[in-house]
Amino acid sequence: AYDSLIIGGGPAGASAAIYSARKGIRTGVVAQNFGGQVADTVGIENFISVKETEGPKLVMALEQHVKEYDVDLMNLQTAKGLSKTGDEIAITLENGAVLKSKTVILSTGARWREMNVPGEQEYRGKGVAYCPHCDGPLYKGKRVAVIGGGNSGVEAAIDLAGIVDHVTLIEFDTKLRADAVLQKKMYSMPNVTVIMNALSKEVLGANGKVTTLRYEDRANQQMHDVALEGIFVQIGLLPNTDWLKGVIDLSPRGEVIIDQKGETSMPGVFAAGDCTTVPFKQIIIAMGEGAKASLSAFDYLIRS
Ligand code: FAD
Repeated sequence: AYDSLIIGGGPAGASAAIYSARKGIRTGVVAQNFGGQVADTVGIENFISVKETEGPKLVMALEQHVKEYDVDLMNLQTAKGLSKTGDEIAITLENGAVLKSKTVILSTGARWREMNVPGEQEYRGKGVAYCPHCDGPLYKGKRVAVIGGGNSGVEAAIDLAGIVDHVTLIEFDTKLRADAVLQKKMYSMPNVTVIMNALSKEVLGANGKVTTLRYEDRANQQMHDVALEGIFVQIGLLPNTDWLKGVIDLSPRGEVIIDQKGETSMPGVFAAGDCTTVPFKQIIIAMGEGAKASLSAFDYLIRS
């Protein structure tokens, strides 16, 4: 049995693993895909102290760092169940194996909801972006669209309007769902245009870069093209927590509810990073949260 078993091998899981192993306790990591979202990232410019790096490079560095320690790394394995009997927590894997541990750290991350239109995959990282905090500065002085008029879309439009030349916000519905104060702020900005009742249809580009967003006016089915350099898709972040439903308390959005110490609703089970209710989903935040959850798990172990 493990002392700490970490589910997920992104920045949060890698950080938790290193912190746990450094306490000399038996540590394991189960990862569907070691590296997580970082493996899909092109340029990273906001991982503080590393001026500029690339996703795969950072994943390699994470793996090397984890492997410096006595960590049982089980890559390409997916957890599908969690249960607790007495003080022992059992994690069931999709391959049927059952792993036992005194503490578990959930760090299964999240994925961006996609538009699912032609061109989106092709131009991902070449104009199609999901994170304004990460990629906003790359579009300085350029034209972008934000897809989605919820809080995250309108926040993105406000954020980007301060950096880029012009923002077109595209909303599917006939009204925005964002909070009134955010809408007011956005409408006060001269370089934001809002288009409602619009369905994104296609991302077009040339020479490996996005040039156009095509959308349909839902009122009359007419197609329109917006000339631009970037498209920020803000239609939701889906936490990878389906397998925890009914076992661990989740927020209405499906995020694992944690307190300041990373504790979940089940004693001995902690969580960190994008799969949790922690605000702002970033590499540096996920790593900090992973460290915190690991220290909380250690604290729990020495008290029980
Ligand atoms: P993830 O990175 O999502 O890792 C989750 C891990 O859990 C993975 O190993 C996954 O395989 C595993 N997993 C999931 N379900 C299971 C299961 N059931 N069983 C076992 N394992 C499971 N942030 C920045 O700070 N700067 C950037 O420039 C930046 N750019 C980004 C660009 C893109 C395209 C994307 C998608 C994200 C970007 N982010 C960026 C956000 C950043 O990548 C995330 O905030 C961060 O990776 C979250 O770390 P995490 O460990 O919580 O989750």
